[in-house]
Amino acid sequence: MSTVIPIRAETSGCTDVVPLVERGQREVFCGLTGIIWLHRKIQDAFFLVVGSRTCAHLIQSAAGVMIFAEPRFGTAIIDERDLAGLADVHEELDRVVQQLLARRPDIRLLFLVGSCPSEVIKLDLSRAAERQNQIHQPAVRVLNYSGSGIETTFTQGEDACLAAMVPGLPSPAATALSNETAPALMVVGTLADVVEDQLRNLLERMGLQVSFFPPRNSQNMPAVGPHTRFLLAQPFLADTARALQARGAQHLPAVFPLGVEGTTAWLQAAATEFGVTPEVFEQATAAPRQRAEKALAVQRDMLQGQRIFFFPDSQLEIPLARFVHRELGMDLVEVGTPYLHRQHMAAELAWLPAGTRISEGQDVDRQLDRCLADAPDLVVCGLGLANPLEAQGITTKWAIELVFTPIQGYEQAADLAGLFSRPLKRRLKLAA
Ligand code: SF4
Repeated sequence: MSTVIPIRAETSGCTDVVPLVERGQREVFCGLTGIIWLHRKIQDAFFLVVGSRTCAHLIQSAAGVMIFAEPRFGTAIIDERDLAGLADVHEELDRVVQQLLARRPDIRLLFLVGSCPSEVIKLDLSRAAERQNQIHQPAVRVLNYSGSGIETTFTQGEDACLAAMVPGLPSPAATALSNETAPALMVVGTLADVVEDQLRNLLERMGLQVSFFPPRNSQNMPAVGPHTRFLLAQPFLADTARALQARGAQHLPAVFPLGVEGTTAWLQAAATEFGVTPEVFEQATAAPRQRAEKALAVQRDMLQGQRIFFFPDSQLEIPLARFVHRELGMDLVEVGTPYLHRQHMAAELAWLPAGTRISEGQDVDRQLDRCLADAPDLVVCGLGLANPLEAQGITTKWAIELVFTPIQGYEQAADLAGLFSRPLKRRLKLAA
């Protein structure tokens, strides 16, 4: 089926780009950060970090714990005795899990989340999870993954978490009553509930049944198998995609659903795969698309021609750069990404203007030097770099806000643009 929406003709753009690869000091959060949005999504899950007091502080301050609320995450603290090998850490962990599950019968899925300290003492959390499963299944399922900051950037925490769930997803024969081999669509990646509802609604208006992974409740895990066609909703899920493919699922290549054009192309990838007619596609998408285009035009006036620099942080940088350039007219000074996954980024790279400076990895001092020399109008970076750059007179946007805020889909396109225009407006006001 041909594309029905007048998306600009594809060019090779940055398809063959040779990135500037840097392997120096990095300034990123660790994978534990993913717990903040994952615990809100899977509402009967608990995330038990096996880590230090530093890990506990990170999670508590980032998630803004309310004193009277019962959070669905916690930290089993590894103390000096454990680090010195004076205590049996496995025994202590079993005791903590026992206490937790006795006090919180609402937990149906427990993640043991590894950290730098648990990796340093080589604590085998997969063995711990196996042991816990023997005790607590079927009431509670126990899984493990690593959120350590030793090798990761923070969005890899979600990737590791979802990848850990994939082997336990039911196969279609176990769940479908009939027609179990009919192709089925799965959207992969944590989305705010409001975004998930909107995307589900759009896909259902095209006549498509869709499952979302991760689900809102661990008792509703979607089936996966050779019938599964999956669209990635987030660009940082390389391990999860690999695990799904190992179960026979097929990835539908697409740009990510950021901005009007991105959302249309992402929906179109599903529509094409499932043979949705151009008329049905148009009927389903025309109204929200036009609304979003109108709302975006207001933001474009503010952002057109502004020069933007992305430090590598969330792995959303390339799709965001495509959006701000093509739909808002911003000029890309540098687009940094922690990792460049060429296969998942193929459609995005093709839509970046040829010659864009793309960097992979980080050597933070060198990158700061480049940034200061380029003097961009707006810098998207981690929290640790924002204040020093602001002190140098450079306007910044915290990259992590782009992960915490619902930004996917038509209804969020103008809000996403607003995240870039707000700091510039603030700077103008301060200068007035
Ligand atoms: S996992 Fe590592 S980087 Fe993350 S808070 Fe704990 S010690 Fe720090």
